[in-house]
Amino acid sequence: MKRRKIERSVLVELRRIYPRASRSWLKRSLKRASSVVRKSENLWIVHGMKSMGDYYDVYYVRRKGKKYVCSCQEPPRKFHNVRSRGYCTHIGAVLAFQLVEKLSAARKKRG
Ligand SMILES: [Zn+2]
Repeated sequence: MKRRKIERSVLVELRRIYPRASRSWLKRSLKRASSVVRKSENLWIVHGMKSMGDYYDVYYVRRKGKKYVCSCQEPPRKFHNVRSRGYCTHIGAVLAFQLVEKLSAARKKRG
């Protein structure tokens, strides 16, 4: 599978996971996916991007059961009230990152 095709598949999957997602949320999440680093089973680091209006250098995304929580949604952080309504694009990036990994692995297996 080509890179572009993977990106398209990721967008389709993201929409399925998060039907309320807007177009800009999807695009930003996909753009951020390249800055994601997996730290452990349920913890990822998303590097902040100044061009995306990030205030911090890194954001921590944790998986709790089926839900994801981002450090930007914790009470002491800026924009808490705005962002806690839904998934922020840091979480979107982690979702996209995992989908890219999954699809890339599938590509390798097929050769
Ligand atoms: Zn966030």
